[in-house]
Amino acid sequence: METTSTLKITKRDNSKIADVDFNNLAFGSVFTDHMFSVEYVNGQWQQPEIVPYGPISMDPSAKVFHYGQAVFEGMKAFKDDQGDIFLFRPEDNWERINTSSARLAMPELPKEVFMEGLMELLKLDEAWIKAGDGNSLYIRPFHIATQPGVSASPSDRYKFMIILAPAQSYYSGEVSVVFAEKYSRAASGGVGYAKAAGNYAAQFYPTNLAKEEGYQQVIWTDANTHEYLEEAGTMNVFFRVGDKLLTAPTNDTILNGITRKSIIQLAEAAGITVEVRPVAVKEIVEAAQAGELKEIFGVGTAAVVVPFKSFAYKGEDHKLNAPENSYGVQFKKDLNDIQYNRTEDKYGWRVAVK
Ligand SMILES: *Cc1c(COP(=O)(O)O)cnc(C)c1O
Repeated sequence: METTSTLKITKRDNSKIADVDFNNLAFGSVFTDHMFSVEYVNGQWQQPEIVPYGPISMDPSAKVFHYGQAVFEGMKAFKDDQGDIFLFRPEDNWERINTSSARLAMPELPKEVFMEGLMELLKLDEAWIKAGDGNSLYIRPFHIATQPGVSASPSDRYKFMIILAPAQSYYSGEVSVVFAEKYSRAASGGVGYAKAAGNYAAQFYPTNLAKEEGYQQVIWTDANTHEYLEEAGTMNVFFRVGDKLLTAPTNDTILNGITRKSIIQLAEAAGITVEVRPVAVKEIVEAAQAGELKEIFGVGTAAVVVPFKSFAYKGEDHKLNAPENSYGVQFKKDLNDIQYNRTEDKYGWRVAVK
């Protein structure tokens, strides 16, 4: 047993890495040797620990099971050809899990606990991060309410954990999307801006209905009027009309994606006009009819950029033919070059793990 300041580390005896086929990884299905865990009891975060990865035990009445006090993050670690490891804007994930936690009446986590736990865990399971384009380690921090008892009030105990899953390049296939006309992802005044577990649960059913109709994703519209486009599945969304880029402003129904805000900065630096404003269904349909709509793509940590090949609205399909100078392809390359330490990082987004 070793301790790093207050962090207690208990290592696994033998690594399971030899059993893993790194050429055949289903996204988020294999986890590394260790996990990070810290509990919140009596109004205080307790001693953080890294322990061998494995099941955790909880009382069946724990509030997370009944009232859904659960939030999470998604981030990635990358290895360059020299074997050095990098994160992408990790402090933004720390800030966001605290924003999400506050909305669900959960305590905020100190930055040192998050960053030190993450760094030490990555160093310990460093062999699980493979170099090479498309390879990464997906990082899943999450925070849950553990107090036993089914009274409908906020928990007084919590657990924050980080688990790691090796990932390969994420190819989503050809993606057709449908604009939501009936269901909503988030309502104003609600929890749409939080990375709350329940937001995902609520999306599964309408997304399944869309899948039955032959669409892989739903582009969510505002809950009040269904006239404005908000997010694509669990990604932020960009529309390219002519040579302009449009994306909705983040508000209480739209998650403040780190990929989204990075792409806005890259686009502006490249001299592309970016309009951050409500994007109406009507203007996108009209742009498509006029041949002005060049691209629609979803953006997020898992896939970086997912180009859509068509969208459907009121039963009509509108095809999109990716132009040669695709913005989506360019932004994905620009971000990957920074993430894999292949280019200068003008913005200070890359953080070395050491
Ligand atoms: C996580 C998430 C995103 C993307 O955020 P990134 O920080 O870019 O990974 C977008 N929308 C929703 C609803 C999300 O949960």
